[in-house]
Amino acid sequence: MLRLQIHLTLPPWIGDVVDTGKRYITDLERVGLAIELARHNIGHGHGGPFGAAVFHEDGRLVSVGVNRVVPQTCSVAHAEMMAFMSAQQRLASYRINQDGGRYTLATSAQPCCQCYGATVWAGVDELLIGARAEDVEELTEFDEGPLPADWAGELERRGIAVRRDILREQARDVLATYGRSGQHY
Ligand SMILES: [Zn+2]
Repeated sequence: MLRLQIHLTLPPWIGDVVDTGKRYITDLERVGLAIELARHNIGHGHGGPFGAAVFHEDGRLVSVGVNRVVPQTCSVAHAEMMAFMSAQQRLASYRINQDGGRYTLATSAQPCCQCYGATVWAGVDELLIGARAEDVEELTEFDEGPLPADWAGELERRGIAVRRDILREQARDVLATYGRSGQHY
């Protein structure tokens, strides 16, 4: 039977990990939350070792995402995609920054080719990244897919600032923990 509805969920433990009243001001606080989400996701055995979050420029947390590919049987359910879609639903806008505010996506690891493409259209002004793609491919079996050689420059030219290597060692540690676990998603 054809499905006329698509339903995606985030895990119930999110509410225990995330402080929705906190203002996340610095790059370290923002990527730190993304890494914490990734760590909890593998701790619960609910998905891949990736977390992401969208913040308003005033530090308010707008949305979070973790990798949900396996529990949702959905190849697009990466952490960044979940965070983008959740923010767009919450703000009732297919472009997150449609209201004129500046918004940031923080992610525990460099976006894959799918999430990179989504970042171009999602309506964010900044991209903050923990681990590098080479860390992901060194420490896990995930493939980041084909990206433009100057992927960061392509985003910058579209008005999206990119900052990398934020808490990179902590982000690498989550990937390494997952890699050693023998789990494969
Ligand atoms: Zn992705």
